[in-house]
Amino acid sequence: METLVGKTTQELEAVVQALGAPAFRGRQIAQAIYKRQVRTWDGLTDLPRDLRARLAEHYDLAPCRVRSSSAAPDGTVKYLMDQPDGEVIESVFLPYPGRTSVCISSQVGCPMACSFCATGTEGLARNLSAGEIVDQVLLMQSLHPEQRITHVVFMGMGEPLLNYAAALAAIRILNQEVGIAMRHVTLSTVGVVPNIEKLADEDLQLTLAVSLHAPNDTLRSELVPLNEKYPIARLLQACRDYTDKTRRRITFEYVLLADVNDGEKEAHELGDLLRGMLAGVNVIPYNTTDVAAPYQRPTPEAQRRFREIVAGHGVTITQRKERGHRIAAACGQLKRSALRRGSMMRSLPVIAAAPSGKP
Ligand code: SF4
Repeated sequence: METLVGKTTQELEAVVQALGAPAFRGRQIAQAIYKRQVRTWDGLTDLPRDLRARLAEHYDLAPCRVRSSSAAPDGTVKYLMDQPDGEVIESVFLPYPGRTSVCISSQVGCPMACSFCATGTEGLARNLSAGEIVDQVLLMQSLHPEQRITHVVFMGMGEPLLNYAAALAAIRILNQEVGIAMRHVTLSTVGVVPNIEKLADEDLQLTLAVSLHAPNDTLRSELVPLNEKYPIARLLQACRDYTDKTRRRITFEYVLLADVNDGEKEAHELGDLLRGMLAGVNVIPYNTTDVAAPYQRPTPEAQRRFREIVAGHGVTITQRKERGHRIAAACGQLKRSALRRGSMMRSLPVIAAAPSGKP
């Protein structure tokens, strides 16, 4: 069944009008689901009981349900969320001093098959709808009412630019209905060039993160098979065009793999490649506990040397403090089969269920 979460105010007005109710009832629904995170029909107290009942005959309110959660000592909480068809996705709540981020999924699984990533090993099950994307944020906000979510990053499962229409619809709802500042939305892509070009024309002030992971085509094609289709030169041209049009700085994500892409040669190549671009690099040392791949985490000394060399080329390079979750590759890292079994994470008691509670 369709859900009301995922519809704009205008669309909600049309929904209620089709049921013979005045348009302002649609605005009341939008306020309730997006501003107050109401998740049950009974919670829609502004609406007459009979309208709630008629809506419930045709729609579900929200798609996501918490299956399980695990909390890290630093406050990070990872959620596994059930979707209406039984698929499971991963979302992460990340409190920082002065801001609160959430990391959300855009697809169930991922078709990109990056060699270091568990999510990519099992392929794509399906795209998420705009409602399923937005509802990850709403559900986490409802579970953490004391901490207002200020930032949203599309770095969970999936490649958002392969689910372009739903991802963009979700971003617009998060901005216009939920109130997340567009500059606080980060969309991470592994480099779907035609859709980077399309995104540049959308006139959105979001932050684009591009998973580069290697400074030359031979190595990048090994790590990121999509590079065969969109080699580095073409990808970087699309990135330059993007920054020219939007004047927004791009972040290049680079997972550091010991003795694979973390050497002095690669650091110099990367510095040469990105010098002069409106961009910075974020390095993420590989987390060896993530997946059964033949990669190792570089030593702290190798990490420091890599950063110094790249910075020596005049390229801004950062290494964020790692949090209690697996953002390691700038994308999702969990296998779908493991998610179904719930075996890759320590399942703690579910913090809160979210019943649909029809009247
Ligand atoms: S690293 Fe990202 S793009 Fe690559 S397979 Fe994993 S989820 Fe997909």
